[in-house]
Amino acid sequence: MIYCVEDEGSIRDLMLYTLNMAGFEAQGFASSEPFWDAMKAKRPELILLDIMLPGEDGITVLRRLRSSPVTADIPVIMATAKGSEYDRVVGLDLGADDYLSKPFGMMEMVSRIKAVLRRASPKAAAPAVLSLGEISLDPTRHSVSSGGREVVLTLKEYDLLKLLLEHPGQVFTREHLLSSVWGSDFIGESRTVDVHIGTLRTKLGAAGRHIQTVRGVGYKLEV
Ligand code: CA
Repeated sequence: MIYCVEDEGSIRDLMLYTLNMAGFEAQGFASSEPFWDAMKAKRPELILLDIMLPGEDGITVLRRLRSSPVTADIPVIMATAKGSEYDRVVGLDLGADDYLSKPFGMMEMVSRIKAVLRRASPKAAAPAVLSLGEISLDPTRHSVSSGGREVVLTLKEYDLLKLLLEHPGQVFTREHLLSSVWGSDFIGESRTVDVHIGTLRTKLGAAGRHIQTVRGVGYKLEV
């Protein structure tokens, strides 16, 4: 969802139309008041903010967005009047992610939005790669490698390895692994865990030795 704060109706309509055509959901606001109401209901992925607005201006809106931890990291693109260097500098100083000088083309607007969203997204998600010795698990790509070689795992093997990698050295009982990986309502035997650990070790090759059996208890990943 993209919020567009722009008091000029024809420009706002054109922006919303273009954004919809580009595959974005978008909502428009003629002033800051309805915008703040909408902010309470839904957090947008990005805000297009005009500086010259009736009532509260765009600079003030940006300052308020940046001062609250809840909204501080929402990407904002400011729309500045042509030649207004001052607004642009103030906007960027206050943490605007980009600006568009009026009048701007709709295609330019879309490409700036896409660029800002691309820059913003890795911060939001992208969990870190988990690794131990030769084993490496990339949650973003849902892939595992061992000694530089891609390893194809079943979903349960993957979940088991991920859990172990997240807690190296921790001893897990078979019951704990069963309920964490298969779910607490899974009716199964602890033997299920042994079988999956077995195939996981085999697939990891030499690195499989990192998964150690703790006699009478369960398993751990050797640090
Ligand atoms: Ca305006």
